[in-house]
Amino acid sequence: MLVIHHPDQALHDPDQVFRTGKFIAQPDRAERYRVFLDIVTQLKLEIAVAPLDQADAIAAVHDRDYVEFLKSVHSRWIEHPDYGPVVIPNVHPTHRMYRRPTELLGELGWYSNSTSCPIVTDTWRAVFASAQVAVHGADRLSAGNGPVYAMCRPPGHHAYPDLMTGVCFLNNAAIAARRLMRSFGKVAIIDIDVHHCNGTQFVFWEDPDVFVASIHVDPSLSAPYYAGYADETGAGQGKGANFNQPLPWATGNEPWLKAIEAAVSRIRGFAPGALVVSLGFDAGAEDPVGTFKITGDGFAEAARRIAGLQVPTLLVQEGGYLSPALGGYLQSFLTAFEGRAS
Ligand code: ZN
Repeated sequence: MLVIHHPDQALHDPDQVFRTGKFIAQPDRAERYRVFLDIVTQLKLEIAVAPLDQADAIAAVHDRDYVEFLKSVHSRWIEHPDYGPVVIPNVHPTHRMYRRPTELLGELGWYSNSTSCPIVTDTWRAVFASAQVAVHGADRLSAGNGPVYAMCRPPGHHAYPDLMTGVCFLNNAAIAARRLMRSFGKVAIIDIDVHHCNGTQFVFWEDPDVFVASIHVDPSLSAPYYAGYADETGAGQGKGANFNQPLPWATGNEPWLKAIEAAVSRIRGFAPGALVVSLGFDAGAEDPVGTFKITGDGFAEAARRIAGLQVPTLLVQEGGYLSPALGGYLQSFLTAFEGRAS
């Protein structure tokens, strides 16, 4: 297995987010990047640094105005000496508001839907590097390397073409899938992060050539709340190419693996040329989000079942937050995916 990363990914490290009426620890700490890098180093996998030279690949998914906004928002923010140290929105449009203003706070609210994406000095550099890791991973897979683990961080699967949300800024998996389509034609995405991949679903909603399968906590109980229900199956030509399996709180290995098997079966029927795994570990029993009860053995079994599809595969890191178990979850998945003894 080939691993792709870039050290700029650690430059984004705000320590708090505002939630439940107070500032709490921001889950996507830069320390995650170091935990993942330690594991792939210990496993003696081939490791490569992504060249940051494919900026145009981002435009296959994201609106150019949004990308320009992400690049410039922090420098615009610090022009205001009375603003705080971290870029956080405080106002958003809702269903009946359709005008995009150019004033900073109004525009910030337009491109976000919550306080969950704090921005600091080098956030753009980290976000850009994470997306480039996905693009380079896709290119290496297309060149015949495989499987490839794109060690993305910050994660991406909640991001829409013009919206940051849920600690995600650019949708790494969607960007990679679009890239892979150039070489492989039809692509499938299986998302095993504990949260629904609302951004990824939106990008491919009407696309018959990308099958999106997600196994996640029931969105009526948890973020992202506004998408991820079982009756969302795609639209237009993409009708039937979206497969959501919401599961109850505290789901354990057995029902989770059954849902993964159902997704694998549907993907097999779709016959993709390549597969993207949106690889979140926040379903883990010891993950601080505390939602599902998946063990290291559960992640290993998921890896074996997904690897059984035997199609060229790009693993794209999504969630999975700091706990003593995080590195072990990654190790279990990667070793099982390659059929190695863990
Ligand atoms: Zn998640």
